[in-house]
Formats: sequence, structure tokens, C-alpha cells
Amino acid sequence: MPIGRPVPDFMATHSLRKLLTAVDRWYRRQGRKLPWRIGPAERDAGVTPDPYLVWLSEVMLQQTTIPHATPYFEAFRIRWPTVHALAAASWDEVSAAWAGLGYYSRARNLHACAKAVAERHAFPQTAEALRALPGIGPYTSAAIASIAFDERIAPVDGNIERVVSRLHAIGSDGTEAGWRAAKQVISARAQEMANALPHDQRAGDLAQALMDLGATVCTPRGPNCAMCPVWDFCEARKQGEQERYPVKAEKKATPTRHGSAFVIVRGPEVLLIRRPPSGLLGGMMMPLTSAWSETKADDPLAEAPGKFDWKLVGEVRHVFTHFALKLDVYRADVGVSTKVEGEWLKHDDALAALPTVGRKAVALGLGGVNSRRN
Ligand code: SF4
Repeated sequence: MPIGRPVPDFMATHSLRKLLTAVDRWYRRQGRKLPWRIGPAERDAGVTPDPYLVWLSEVMLQQTTIPHATPYFEAFRIRWPTVHALAAASWDEVSAAWAGLGYYSRARNLHACAKAVAERHAFPQTAEALRALPGIGPYTSAAIASIAFDERIAPVDGNIERVVSRLHAIGSDGTEAGWRAAKQVISARAQEMANALPHDQRAGDLAQALMDLGATVCTPRGPNCAMCPVWDFCEARKQGEQERYPVKAEKKATPTRHGSAFVIVRGPEVLLIRRPPSGLLGGMMMPLTSAWSETKADDPLAEAPGKFDWKLVGEVRHVFTHFALKLDVYRADVGVSTKVEGEWLKHDDALAALPTVGRKAVALGLGGVNSRRN
């Protein structure tokens, strides 16, 4: 069921069709070649997108960049070429392969979703049905449905949001409520474009064309309007106010939390624990840490796991979605008979199994003391 506003009159429809044709032509010439993408020429030749690869890329690209996600995508595709193969993998394998991509709840949902799809044998083909799967929200369901199955539904990521906002000069008053309202109008306008597609144009091509346009031409700073296929239609450009749009709500300052990481080393091995399945970094391997709080503890070793000879080796910083974390890293070298709850892993295996924040702490813990010995 289309969610867009009705297009008001014939001229508007006519103009929208011209815009869609311009975007399609541009995409055929200038669209990016991406490892998960079936380009328009291949689509014309009858190649269809693999929903597994579309889904995998969309989950990986949430909150990270294409250059960062691409090696992970290639590694997953080689190791688990189908959703059934990924469903059959263990959580340890998936979480270790995900390490470095951040947002581990996404990895947990990815694995749960693969199992759910394998159980029903295939991905559902509509955005509505996709939304019932673990970890698939409104954006991802729309992206998979349009790219993999050409459903006429508009996924609105940051790139599409910017292009549509500028095309129609949709801004806000800078408040959260104002920006929420503006986003609804932007989504409705994007959906109008999908609804107005002529029969010989694919919804998946439109979605990917607009993503590319935002990423390569209609960039946040210094949009290259002279090279833009929708120059003639763009209200922000007509106003000479391209960079003014979109007017988002002002960002709140990111709070900082403090804590300590305790790296316990037993010769060639280091101790890691698995965090509880829910919550931040849920189910991931990590070094032992204190609780993270808004102020620095008076006695950072009060929460240390044992009375060892702790040495402070430095501080690591990491930025999560809603806060920044500063961890003081302590190291203790212990003997073989030491009893501490957790798993002993070889140094390299431990570093490979850790999410980024844990890897930073353990690498500093291992390297810090080594450097003092040199
Ligand atoms: S004309 Fe400029 S501001 Fe408008 S959509 Fe194109 S690149 Fe963006």
C-alpha cells in the first residue's frame, strides 16, 4: 500500500516522470560499482539480485562506510555464500568475523535473522513481511524489498534524505520535533517518486541511483550541482541554498563514561570473558572491565578481578552511538596456577575475537608492558 501523498496534478506527474528519467539515465552512466550490486545493464540482461547479499550489505552498511564494510562483506560472502550457510555457523564464528564492524547487537540480529530465513527457506519478498524478521526495521526492509524485489517502496537513508530534502527545499526549525516532521515529508516525497515510476523503470534502480547521487554529487558539503541530473528540478539550487538543506535538529553533546579494563596475561595467553547476551557488546568476548560511569572512580582498582600486581599501561578511547568511553587499561602478569573465571586465549586469537573497543584495550595491555621491557 503506497504511503506517499497523491501527486497533485498532471503537470506534477509529468515533471516527476522527467525527473525519474533523468535519474535513471544518470545511474546507468554514473552509478557506482559495488560488490553487492547488480547494475542496470546486468538487470536488463536478466540477472536478478541475491536478497541474501542485499540484506548482508545493508546490515553491514548501517552506521559504517562502504570502504570499511567491503572487506567484511567479501569475507562473509566467501565463507558463508548463502543464508543457509550463515544460519549453520556458530555464534562464535559469526561474532569473530564481525569483530571490528561495531554495533554487536546487529551481529546477533544478523545471525538470528539468517536462522529465521533458513527455517522458512527464503527471504520474504515484501517490506512488510521482511519487517517481521530479527533486526530488520523500516529502512532495511524497504531497502531489501526495493533493491532485491523491485517493490515500489522508498528506503530513505542519509543520502536519499539529503537529495530529496534539497530537491523540494524541505528543512526544519532545528528542533527535534521540527526535524521529525520534516523527515516525514521527505519520506512521503521519496515515496511519491517510487509510486510514479513508469513500468520500464525498476524501483531498485531508483533507490540505488538516489543513494549514489547523494554519495557522489549531492554531498553534504559542496554539492556538485553542475553535474547533477536533477539540477532543473531542484528547489534548493534555485534558491541558491543547497547547503542549507536538510536542516536537522541540533546534535546534543555526546556524554563521556569512564572505566577500567583489566588485561590478565599468562605467558602467551590472555584472559577474556564473554559478556552477557543482552545489552551493549552483548555476547561478545571482552577483557574484564569495571562498570562504566559518568565520573572517574577514586580507586580504579576497587573493581579489579583479583589482587594482582596491576600496572597502568595507558588509556583507550572509543565512541559508541550514544556516548564516548575512556578506559584506563591495567595489566597483570599471573602464573599458570592462577584461578580467574574466563577463557584463556593465545594473544593473536584473542585480538582476532575481540570487538574494536576490546581489541584496543588488549592490544595496549599486551604492547604496553612489552614496550616497558624493551
Ligand atoms: S542540484 Fe545540487 S543541491 Fe540539488 S539535488 Fe542536485 S546536487 Fe543536490
